[in-house]
Amino acid sequence: MTNIILCGAPGSGKGTQSELLAKKYHLLHFSTGDALRAEIKSGSALGKEIEAIISKGNLVPDVKMIALIENFFDNLPTNCKGVILDGFPRTVEQAKALTEMMHNRNLSAILIELLVEENELVNRMLFRGQTSGRADDTPEVIQQRLKVYHEQTAPVSTYYLKQGNYFAVNGMGEIEDTFRQLDKIVGFHI
Ligand code: AMP
Repeated sequence: MTNIILCGAPGSGKGTQSELLAKKYHLLHFSTGDALRAEIKSGSALGKEIEAIISKGNLVPDVKMIALIENFFDNLPTNCKGVILDGFPRTVEQAKALTEMMHNRNLSAILIELLVEENELVNRMLFRGQTSGRADDTPEVIQQRLKVYHEQTAPVSTYYLKQGNYFAVNGMGEIEDTFRQLDKIVGFHI
């Protein structure tokens, strides 16, 4: 099984690129953001708790996220060729838990980071906010999400770099340009 962790700041194109890679390589795409939004949509008590966190641009507690991913790995279809994690891990604590979870299942993963400049990230999220209906694509919440990204998520890259499982691509260009770079890295590892 080839497993990819696609990471990058909010607005870097993780969702779009994950879908393209999943399609080409028949990988299972798991977006934690989508899973959380589905929980909110269900109207459950947990969903309401999550909504309060996401709408402020903060992170859902590690313990909840780790349980979500553990449940995902416990229920993989038997014919699964590999997974793309989109939006996890977002903290070093989550990264450590993921390493252990994968190790226990004889799995491994590479992390690929999409590098996009900050003003481009903001423009993309504001543009997306015009149609996405996402409560967190507003100017104030975007600033908070970027702050949280720098403080809590950026160290995850260093964690994978130290393990020798880190790759980076320039995500500033068109969707196809970024995909071409990702395709080369993933194609090499499959
Ligand atoms: P995304 O769709 O990946 O941009 O995620 C939207 C929001 O969901 C984030 O801003 C966080 O509030 C929450 N979220 C998604 N993934 C995680 C995670 N791994 N850890 C904590 N919170 C998360």
